[in-house]
Amino acid sequence: MAPTGGRYMVVTKSPLTGTIACSNSGGFFGAELKNAGYDAIIIEGRAENPVYLFIEDDLVEIRDASHLWGRVVSETTDELKKVSKEKAGVLCIGPAGEKLSKIAAVINDYDRAAGRSGVGAVMGSKNLKGIVVKGTGKVDYSDEDEMKQIVQDCIKKLRDNGVTGQGLPTYGTAVLVNIINENGVFPTNNFKESYFEKADNISGETMTDKHLVRKNPCYRCPIACGRWVKIEDLNMEAGGPEYETLWAFGADCGIDDIQAIFVANHLCNEYGLDTISTGATIAAAMELYEKGLIKDDEVDGTPLKFGNKEAIIEWTKKMGLREGFGDKLAEGSYRLCEMYGVPELSMSVKKQELPAYDPRAIQGHGLEYATSNRGGCHVRGYMISLKF
Ligand code: SF4
Repeated sequence: MAPTGGRYMVVTKSPLTGTIACSNSGGFFGAELKNAGYDAIIIEGRAENPVYLFIEDDLVEIRDASHLWGRVVSETTDELKKVSKEKAGVLCIGPAGEKLSKIAAVINDYDRAAGRSGVGAVMGSKNLKGIVVKGTGKVDYSDEDEMKQIVQDCIKKLRDNGVTGQGLPTYGTAVLVNIINENGVFPTNNFKESYFEKADNISGETMTDKHLVRKNPCYRCPIACGRWVKIEDLNMEAGGPEYETLWAFGADCGIDDIQAIFVANHLCNEYGLDTISTGATIAAAMELYEKGLIKDDEVDGTPLKFGNKEAIIEWTKKMGLREGFGDKLAEGSYRLCEMYGVPELSMSVKKQELPAYDPRAIQGHGLEYATSNRGGCHVRGYMISLKF
């Protein structure tokens, strides 16, 4: 019952960094796993053919998933929900994980991602398409009344705090776009600059005023930072982008079209890609293209120019499927830039793309990037709040 306590972690050796990966996600999967009676699942070895793991309380089975291989996340999740109860927790990989993209994510509940460090490729390498879990039990507390009191105290603290009580509930994590930009910390055009003139077009305020359908909270979370938005070009509603995603496909690629970012975000959720690394890899490719290192004949009619919104959509699709030049992009920015002899154009640490804070403006955060055991990352020591 702890607020924000429904989260779970995917821990493995990272195919992107070669070091530890520990990618965190919200949604409902973690709570279902706990209600089924498990604190952790350890997956060893590799299945000969595609499988999924089925868990309903004490019943645990490895089942055939060949009919799901090659399918996107929403289709896979729909199918896996059918084999259990309506509210079962489902996590899975999309085509990017199957094709061992080093920036592939694990997606749960359709639009929540254990995004970083290529954890989706590890599931793909094991031929494990997904996990479905339904738990009918409940958590035992040594003192349930005391726990309830602690939870009430925590909820009050969250509500009284300006960030968790107002900023995040009102605008989602996208509340950060204008704040970070106005402080000159918003990396733009593959970190060539740290201020994006058109940031307000991709801000939390714009998303809330013009595109928000509803909030999309994780299990038992009073903050409810998740968003559900209208994607005009696809004539659908879906999970909206986080701050990091608005930055990666937005400022870092020189793009201020929030609807194009919604599409790219949705494609990442469907193919199972990390939005930070996907956007940042496209941004690095844009710099390679503008420097004349990537040639027109390589990019198949979709120029990788900063500001070209078609590029983030087309190249995200091709990365997800490893089609054409997307095959190189799917390796992540470091390996891409290395192929062209300029690894220094990849804005990364331990080969993992940096997130949406320019370390030149907040040097303590640069130190955190440099020393994080999982590579470029903003959740191993968040120096931003301290500095502001
Ligand atoms: S809704 Fe936001 S704050 Fe709440 S658990 Fe999910 S990601 Fe965290």
